[in-house]
Amino acid sequence: MDPDPFFPSTISPHFLPPHCPRDDCPSRHPGSPFLWQRKGRYRRACDERVVQRFWCRACCRYFSTQSFRLDFGLRKPTLHFTLFDTFISKVTQRQAARILECTRKTVVHRLRLLSEHSRAFHERVLARARARGGLDGDYQLDELETFEGSRRQCPVTMPVLIELHSYFVVHVEVAPLPPRGKARRKELERRLERERVEGRRRSGSSAAVERCFRVLADAHGHQRAPTISTDCKSTYGPLLRKAFPDTCYHVRHSSKARRDFHNPLFPINHTLAMLRDGLSRLVRRNWGVSKQREWLERHAWVWIAYRNYIRPLTNRSPRTTAASALGLVDKLGKHDLFEWRLVPAR
Ligand SMILES: [Zn+2]
Repeated sequence: MDPDPFFPSTISPHFLPPHCPRDDCPSRHPGSPFLWQRKGRYRRACDERVVQRFWCRACCRYFSTQSFRLDFGLRKPTLHFTLFDTFISKVTQRQAARILECTRKTVVHRLRLLSEHSRAFHERVLARARARGGLDGDYQLDELETFEGSRRQCPVTMPVLIELHSYFVVHVEVAPLPPRGKARRKELERRLERERVEGRRRSGSSAAVERCFRVLADAHGHQRAPTISTDCKSTYGPLLRKAFPDTCYHVRHSSKARRDFHNPLFPINHTLAMLRDGLSRLVRRNWGVSKQREWLERHAWVWIAYRNYIRPLTNRSPRTTAASALGLVDKLGKHDLFEWRLVPAR
């Protein structure tokens, strides 16, 4: 059996259940056999799809192909596809709820679902790449600055690491930055009040960048020593040496050079510009800004799934995506990517 039965390119059109969907089933213990029988089909009332039903001989309970799908248990089983389009198209969550006539709670629930799924899928892609010898490429990292709630009081950094030639996003992190500038009296009061509840706001930038480099070191495997280019921030060199103790090449470019196509940091600058253009909460001077940075990170993973696996790399090559250019996965549609569940049902 394929170790990853729900990977979109490997799934068979003739569905065979890989395991019992219930976590407490005796067949889920390692080494226990999983025996099942087909038990008829039924037609779903909401979308007329025919669903195969099965019976687990270990726990004597019924399940169906539906138990393994991402839309399992969802009252509106196609809403997440439409919401996915809004999440990557600069539509705020409130506006998405208004135009799709659902509640904001539903929008939040689907954002969480799509984000967990997108991240799990991306991690599987990296794990498969590692098992096949590792990612091969040259990389670039830069940090995007934004904020949660207040621009001066709660700035946030978002390091993004990409493969330079394919624009494949390898990893993203979100971390706090300390408050900026001199606080006025009212601001100072609010800052002290916040510090009493949350503790002092310190920079998480180095730790977040280090996590990006470690994900890359892990995915890169034993390929040739990678070249990683960044701007001249002094912390990047020591962090790279920590993540790649053997060898890697660190190239530094001035971030003050003109930001055009000839700038050596163009790929990462372009990626950050696309992020700002796609994510409603990153658009400058708008009121859709993140209230909590955790949700910025969740939203970013949905965009990464789109950027890496669905969006054509250029308009001239509609079948090539960032991931297919790196030889990782063929181009997917949103219906392929969000078909089978990769994270446990809540
Ligand atoms: Zn069972």
